[in-house]
Amino acid sequence: MKLNELTIKEARAGLDAKKFTAVELVQACLDKISKRDKKINAFITVADDSALVQARAADKLIAAGKQLPLTGIPFAVKDAICTAGVRSTASAKILDNYTPPYNATVIQKILDQGAVMIGKTNCDAFGHGASNENSMYGPVANPHDLKKVAGGSSGGSAAAVADNMCLFAIAEDTGGSIRQPASFCGIVGLRPSYGRNSRFGIMPMASSFDTVGPMTKTVDDMAVVMQVIAGQDNLDATTVPDSVPDYSEDLKKDIKGLRIGVPREYFENKSIDPEVKQAIEKQIKNLEARGAKIIDVSLPLTKYAISVYYILVPSEDSSNLGRMDGVRYGVRAGGKDLFDLYANSREQGFPEEVKRRILIGTYALSAGYYDAYYKKAQQVRTLIRRDFDRVFSEVDVLITPTSPFAAFNIGEKSSDPIQMYLADVFVSPACSAGIPGISVNAGMTKSGLPIGAQIMGPRLSECLVMRVADKIKL
Ligand code: GLN
Repeated sequence: MKLNELTIKEARAGLDAKKFTAVELVQACLDKISKRDKKINAFITVADDSALVQARAADKLIAAGKQLPLTGIPFAVKDAICTAGVRSTASAKILDNYTPPYNATVIQKILDQGAVMIGKTNCDAFGHGASNENSMYGPVANPHDLKKVAGGSSGGSAAAVADNMCLFAIAEDTGGSIRQPASFCGIVGLRPSYGRNSRFGIMPMASSFDTVGPMTKTVDDMAVVMQVIAGQDNLDATTVPDSVPDYSEDLKKDIKGLRIGVPREYFENKSIDPEVKQAIEKQIKNLEARGAKIIDVSLPLTKYAISVYYILVPSEDSSNLGRMDGVRYGVRAGGKDLFDLYANSREQGFPEEVKRRILIGTYALSAGYYDAYYKKAQQVRTLIRRDFDRVFSEVDVLITPTSPFAAFNIGEKSSDPIQMYLADVFVSPACSAGIPGISVNAGMTKSGLPIGAQIMGPRLSECLVMRVADKIKL
């Protein structure tokens, strides 16, 4: 097995046993990127020089016996997350030349362990999209079939992990951006509860929805990375003070007697591909065979989740993106006066989808429409949250497909924003509720594309959703 193909746990064992060095491990990932990424386009920036410097420092720590769980482990970071001294574009030309002066808290925590940041991964610009086709740096190809999308918005991160260009990635999930590409690329992706991980240093999309989480090859690795990044942060007032459990220890427990809910609205959705449905139903039987109790439940407000999301998220987006004015950050276009400069910078610096969201959000927040759209959507958001609260008094976790279908063709939905929005139908509800969701590979289509299962649980039930996801095996 090549070094870049190892999981975090395997690499840790090999590094600690001195079977190979961090420099060799990192070089294996960099070699894979240089061989394969012309076809995949997972990376916008490869930080080869600084990665090798970090790898040498990691080798010194290991030699001195001072290693931590992530020392010497190469990882990638979604380009919408700030990395000190490494260009961070959010896949939009308006930030083409932006190099942050600081690290996001989660990145700093990982680097403090002596991990190695090998580069910044492609995504839909500012996280807006479900296919990575809204990147101003080109789409990302799915490693399982280069004609297919890798999913979005964290398509580059998912493809990089799936194609063994790094051992894990850190990405952001506002409306499914970790789980859906994880499902399309056949890896593990966790959207944590809102407030579990710090959002400091994440380029804000919709602040009341944004979360940061890992994308890994296994659930075991997910537990390792979550242990490092979870917790309260003084720099993000929305992080919660609750103590961080021992995620790896919890994974050892079984699921006997656990009540797993099957929300019928997800399985009766008319866009669901029968192959996806069958794969998840088979996994449900396997979970039952392992002692879980399977319970049919209903989440009737699921049908409003996309409508609510596409009012509230663009509203928050339109406000957050106001700072991208071509003056304080990024690329500045010329203009005859200040207004012209703003307009030209934003016109050239944002792709169509970002402009569409700014328009929708500005409209939904404007006097006269605020009550009809924004306020109404907030009220329905509360009802969606209560729908989940009620169901979690009946069951411990929920299982659903992550996406109604496997990866679609590049270009298939890009001209139809509504079709693209509907791709999020199963991942969006958890975002309104602020609850955790994990996607794990649960099967393959006949044509060889991964199918993801999603496990959702009540707030701060990361242990539980990981434990159930860990029992899903192909
Ligand atoms: N598909 C979602 C959207 O376009 C994903 C957003 C996200 O999680 N960053 O809004």
